[in-house]
Amino acid sequence: MLVDSHCHLDFPDLIQNEADMLARMADNGVTHALCVAVKLETLAGVIGAADRHPNVFASVGVHPDNADCEEPDEARLLELAAHPKVVAIGETGLDYYWHKDAPEWQRARFRTHIRAARRCAKPLIIHTRDSAVDTLRLMQEEGAGEAGGVMHCFTETLEVAKGALDLGFYISFSGIVSFKNAESLREVARYVPADRLLVETDAPYLAPVPFRGKTNQPAYVRHVAEAVAAARGETLEAVAEVTTRNFFRLFKDARP
Ligand SMILES: [Zn+2]
Ligand SMILES: [Zn+2]
Repeated sequence: MLVDSHCHLDFPDLIQNEADMLARMADNGVTHALCVAVKLETLAGVIGAADRHPNVFASVGVHPDNADCEEPDEARLLELAAHPKVVAIGETGLDYYWHKDAPEWQRARFRTHIRAARRCAKPLIIHTRDSAVDTLRLMQEEGAGEAGGVMHCFTETLEVAKGALDLGFYISFSGIVSFKNAESLREVARYVPADRLLVETDAPYLAPVPFRGKTNQPAYVRHVAEAVAAARGETLEAVAEVTTRNFFRLFKDARP
């Protein structure tokens, strides 16, 4: 039993093959998936996937890469998060890779999401790229630890992982952990305590080995878990068991 803790099932590459995606999940023992929002304009697709399938959950949020889109305030996020299949706030965070000018609006948006997550007591799904220092600083300043959450698609250093773990956050690994040049990330995967570990695909992006470069899908979280298990010297079954238990502990509104 495995859970894909982060995918974008509503994106065109996946939704056009929705029945097949769900069937392949079942074939691979992937029992549940969390479909993560990236902007409000496409939220109906995220919620729709969750509404159609008992084993698909949804989040509400606006990704830090999306510049020209509807900007939510706390009240709007809370209103949308009241939907029964919404189990998290995000994805949110900072991304100075795609926005090298480190714009203030990203930090303001991130603060809004953290405040909303605290108010509705749902965990945060945090995206950080080339912005780890500011990400951890804002998490501290806004009391993100009170809401809890996950550092998704983790690609940062061990020090950053320790900072997030100190705030009570979980660390989620994607297919990147299976890439040949990702030895330093596998070191992080070895370090993360078993009760803070999650796995994800971030599909349709970042397909794990042996599908690298192809369209990713939730079923492939099995290969992510295999890579994490190999890095930790554990069995696939052990990693599947702890990550599934962790998923339902963290996303407490998700019913198995
Ligand atoms: Zn992301
Ligand atoms: Zn994502």
